[in-house]
Amino acid sequence: MFPLWYSPIYTEGLDPEARFPRERYRLVMESLSEDVREGRLRFREAERMDPEDLYLVHDHAYVRDFLNGTLDDSMVRRIGLRPWTEAIVERTLILTGGTIEATRQAVSESGFAGNLGGGTHHAYRDFGSGYCIFNDLAVAAKVAQRDFGIRRVVILDLDVHQGDGTAAIFENDSSVTTVSFHCGKNFPFRKMKSDYDMSLDEGIGDSEYLDGVERFVSRELAPMEFDLLFFQGGVDALETDRLGHLSLSREGMMRRNELVLDFARAKGIPLVITMGGGYGEPIETSVAAHADLFRQASHSSPSPGDVSLPQA
Ligand SMILES: [Zn+2]
Repeated sequence: MFPLWYSPIYTEGLDPEARFPRERYRLVMESLSEDVREGRLRFREAERMDPEDLYLVHDHAYVRDFLNGTLDDSMVRRIGLRPWTEAIVERTLILTGGTIEATRQAVSESGFAGNLGGGTHHAYRDFGSGYCIFNDLAVAAKVAQRDFGIRRVVILDLDVHQGDGTAAIFENDSSVTTVSFHCGKNFPFRKMKSDYDMSLDEGIGDSEYLDGVERFVSRELAPMEFDLLFFQGGVDALETDRLGHLSLSREGMMRRNELVLDFARAKGIPLVITMGGGYGEPIETSVAAHADLFRQASHSSPSPGDVSLPQA
């Protein structure tokens, strides 16, 4: 049974006027109803995280100003998602809480778990950007090391945009390896240095992209020693995406997911999947691709005993 964290606030905590496809969370949740009925996937209610845990990777003044609603306008503009609602603080703590709880579940019981949100990889230590306020991947990685007996973490980011915030946060932390496949022509225009960056040319389609992922997984990831894998599974590399400049088909995206899921299963390590970007036109193309990933995860979730879980 694949546990997937979700809350209606993921959609409802954003203003309907915001230039962001807020409906995608609810739509993905609804398109997984058959998987729930068939007993392979179970929704879990995401809950508010302890804001203290944000300090594991974020700057005190930034956290405090966001929580108090006193961030300056330039900081808010850099994040986007405007106009902000009253619920933005609650939404952010719940969304990050979803990734932390999925991580707790993955390392303690299920092996695979996900958050139907998160993957907020453009959030830096002391500011947010590109629709990202706090970096849920970074916070959950540090919580896992502090509380769940995890030593080495890999964050595999296959969103079309570089995981710049994640790369910067972990630049000097050798216990967390950051990997980003992205389109070089996409935001952010000033790239950070991940441990592994694969900058792809505009317009690249399935075969070249999948060759790259397959090669990376077999040559670099397979021999690496680590105890927990985060997958930022953004689907904005789809050809229908209005922000992404790559040209993957829905089938190509599914093949990409399969490469990651098969790898995690074969290596026998806990896997946490976060949603990442998806801005398709029409939005249904992204919704279908996000749902594909969670459905595929529910089909390939390992049996208890097949995953090496830490002695936390
Ligand atoms: Zn993206």
